[in-house]
Amino acid sequence: MSNDVQYPNVQLYIDGQWCDAAGGKTLDIVNPATEQVIGQLAHAEQVDLDRALEAAEKGFEVWRKTSTLERYKIMRRAAELLRERVDRIAALMSQEQGKPLDQAKAETLGAADTIDWFAEEGRRAYGQVVPSRDFDVQQLTIKQPVGPVAAFTPWNFPINQVVRKLSAAVTTGCSIIVKAPEETPASPAELIRAYADAGVPAGVINLVYGVPADISEYLIPHPTIRKISFTGSTPVGKHLAALAGQHMKKVTMELGGHAPVIICDDADVELAAKEMALAKFRNCGQVCISPTRFLIQEGVYDKFIDLFVKEVEKAKVGAWNEEGVTVGPLANERRGPVLSKLVEDASQRGAKVLTGGKAIEGTGYFFEPTVLAQVPVEADIMTEEPFGPIVIANSFKTLDDAITEANRLPYGLAAYAYTNGFSNAQRIGRDVETGMLTLNHNGLSIPEVPFGGVKDSGYGTEGGSEAIEAYLVTKLVTQKAL
Ligand code: NAD
Repeated sequence: MSNDVQYPNVQLYIDGQWCDAAGGKTLDIVNPATEQVIGQLAHAEQVDLDRALEAAEKGFEVWRKTSTLERYKIMRRAAELLRERVDRIAALMSQEQGKPLDQAKAETLGAADTIDWFAEEGRRAYGQVVPSRDFDVQQLTIKQPVGPVAAFTPWNFPINQVVRKLSAAVTTGCSIIVKAPEETPASPAELIRAYADAGVPAGVINLVYGVPADISEYLIPHPTIRKISFTGSTPVGKHLAALAGQHMKKVTMELGGHAPVIICDDADVELAAKEMALAKFRNCGQVCISPTRFLIQEGVYDKFIDLFVKEVEKAKVGAWNEEGVTVGPLANERRGPVLSKLVEDASQRGAKVLTGGKAIEGTGYFFEPTVLAQVPVEADIMTEEPFGPIVIANSFKTLDDAITEANRLPYGLAAYAYTNGFSNAQRIGRDVETGMLTLNHNGLSIPEVPFGGVKDSGYGTEGGSEAIEAYLVTKLVTQKAL
């Protein structure tokens, strides 16, 4: 059935209406496996943004006064609609982004779980009664929605990157303008449709596409917008955070990473090889938390490499609708040459290519799953996030060496480790500078737990009980009985 899903032209959603851009401008949408244009995308300009801003103001007035219980019910309906529509939505996502169908389905169903989580959390946006110094004084803190939000999301997880920001905004009573990814627009539009069909009032959710820099430069300083959330690269994040800072806007930044994977001599090496091969090549490695810098202790280095390369070579690269495919193409034409250059640079500096190493010739932006061994620290890939299907596999002598290497980069998003030693586990948990650490399993990116980084990987969390705080302000009301 999925193979028959017709890819649509994608419209903007403003003030409760699906619409073309006022100026009629459109962009091509390309399937990265076939390089064919599969649809047209409405391209917003300032007049469309002004309409979206006006709608978001109006939507906020309605939504902030809507009870949390009503918001909860609408959100649960949206989650159910996503589940009902998963086959169609996943097929759209696979066509525009390239990921295999099972991964697109998992992302869509995961988004439904995320909506449920946030729906529930919104009902628990508790304030406090603070003991006062005066018997007649009552001191309350109340949680209120911050106001209209502008959210900017990338193409690697077209739905998942939107759903966390959108659901946190909706559950807290904010309105939102989502600038979703131009490369992969139809599946996030279907997420918005599920919300709209579930009964979210006009103006609460608005969806635009266009030139990312033009839209962010216009929306971030705009007085209507009270909160910014961005997921993407560190340089762009720093630029947008600076802009938001000038206008005193609340910000969440989920940026790049270069995740270390520490495998100690006492680790379950088979488990590590299996789990990390799966985690690495999911979404063709285009994942901000993708395991990248493998640091393997000398005693198990050869064994791990042998098992891991065998796992990697089981991968089947191909288009989303081919039988048994586990790794799709890169989502964008521009990424292949970047990856080839990183591999070339590492090889020239003495790294060994154990498997893969190049773009696959022919149609589509396919790249071989690649393992580079003993990569010198001077190689570009040791500092630059590859954001593709490339593993660095280096060895280490002592755990101190591994922790020093893990912390060498300015990034601090995700880290992985395998050890059966309590002392190793404790030191890794305490000393690796990271927003998220997963030990002896792959346990990241579920709604119940925090998702966010430290250092140049950004700030704020998009998961766990802290996530809604970013969309709330704490107001003090202190009152005296006279
Ligand atoms: P890029 O930096 O050009 O774009 C990354 C994302 O930011 C895109 O979605 C883009 O539309 C958006 N963007 C770019 N400039 C913007 C601006 N001025 N205002 C608002 N949004 C803007 O990079 P790219 O070629 O698309 O991807 C490559 C790099 O981006 C990767 O190496 C990776 O570091 C990063 N990236 C990170 C994530 C993530 O999940 N953290 C996702 C996608 C890309």
